[in-house]
Amino acid sequence: MASVELGEDYPEIRESVRRICADFPNEYWRKMDETEAYPKEFVDALTKAGYLGALIPEEYGGAGLPLRAAGVVLEECHGAGCYAAAAHAQMYTMGSVLRHGSPEQKQKYLPGIASGKLRLQAFGVTEPTTGTDTTKLKTRAVRDGDHYVITGQKVWTSRALHSDLMLLLARTTPLDQVKKKTEGLSVFLVDIRECLGKGLEIRPLKAMINHHATEVFMDGMRVPAANLVGGEGKGFRCILDGMNAERILVSHESIGDARWFIRSASKYATERVVFDRPIGQNQGIQFPIARAYASMQGAEMMLRKAAALFQAGLPCGEDANVAKLLASEASWEAAEACMQTHGGFGYAREYHVERRWREARISRIAPISTNLILAYIAEHVLDMPRSY
Ligand SMILES: Cc1cc2nc3c(=O)[nH]c(=O)nc-3n(C[C@H](O)[C@H](O)[C@H](O)COP(=O)(O)OP(=O)(O)OC[C@H]3O[C@@H](n4cnc5c(N)ncnc54)[C@H](O)[C@@H]3O)c2cc1C
Repeated sequence: MASVELGEDYPEIRESVRRICADFPNEYWRKMDETEAYPKEFVDALTKAGYLGALIPEEYGGAGLPLRAAGVVLEECHGAGCYAAAAHAQMYTMGSVLRHGSPEQKQKYLPGIASGKLRLQAFGVTEPTTGTDTTKLKTRAVRDGDHYVITGQKVWTSRALHSDLMLLLARTTPLDQVKKKTEGLSVFLVDIRECLGKGLEIRPLKAMINHHATEVFMDGMRVPAANLVGGEGKGFRCILDGMNAERILVSHESIGDARWFIRSASKYATERVVFDRPIGQNQGIQFPIARAYASMQGAEMMLRKAAALFQAGLPCGEDANVAKLLASEASWEAAEACMQTHGGFGYAREYHVERRWREARISRIAPISTNLILAYIAEHVLDMPRSY
């Protein structure tokens, strides 16, 4: 049986994350954004506190915490105005190794990831020509003795220039030779340090937010067969298995963002005086903020449900997807209300609203776009015909 705790759960974790975040004020993030720098000090602080290894079992040196606790860490970071998305993949990408890796792979990599000595921050799935249509991806991995030779291209691979390892999805059996299109894909743990300059090139991709996006080019990159995770041809399942956890975790970030926007908007609406009264006295200003708050509360409850089902080992595909949809929309509603409340000052960098507004927009596109979530609900929950 899954149950949902009400109120402020994991108060000690929340308090400790808030203390860490207090050392990284808005100005720190503004500087990171303006210089497109990686927030190394922040990532180091989260790592040192053990939070990026939150989901790694204790036997491998992690904290062995429930998914909800890890989500709370991300939520508090974003609620405090920090940007945990700079490191969040370290939490969930390792799930593929944990669930599908061999005992040797787990021993070799998980303790290093838990301690922060090894960064597993990069996850290469999306390709420029195939986008959301993952099973059509063109990166090919061909077995050659005790190695695989990999050639292809990835796009939007976040943090690849700040990671030691990259989880990579490639096709090992051509599409026209498999019975089901989800077959013949394989997952590799690529040691970026060993491959850079030897068939692997990574280029920064300038983007709207400081998300450390890259383009990854592979041309004859050799990866030891020992780094194949979950068996040849079984990669799609391996990736899919981690999707619910990923959706639940990133939804916590959206809830944190929504809290930040609502808090900032309410404060500004109360303090800013125009026409001799606080702008927040006008219901045209109040109501969008109040509505965003209601949306956030609804999304948060759905998110707690999804996390509880996940933790109980119960099916949670529907709930994780619904929570992701609602949380991403609540954060965007709050972002818009906050921007509108700030008027022209919403555009001033020193108010931090424009930066956080840009950051919040991503949750409706990545790691999964709103349309694809709606397609999941229509097809898998409501039994309507598949659209793609
Ligand atoms: C900042 C950033 C970071 C990212 N980080 C990573 C990363 O680390 N690793 C990684 O692998 N990817 C990453 N991505 C890629 C992200 O997951 C994709 O951008 C996203 O999944 C959408 O894919 P696409 O951009 O190719 O869009 P497309 O697949 O080209 O789709 C474009 C639009 O059409 C819609 N659409 C497509 N097909 C359908 C359909 N059948 N029905 C209805 N609507 C449809 C989509 O919903 C979308 O709105 C990142 C993207 C961004 C912007």
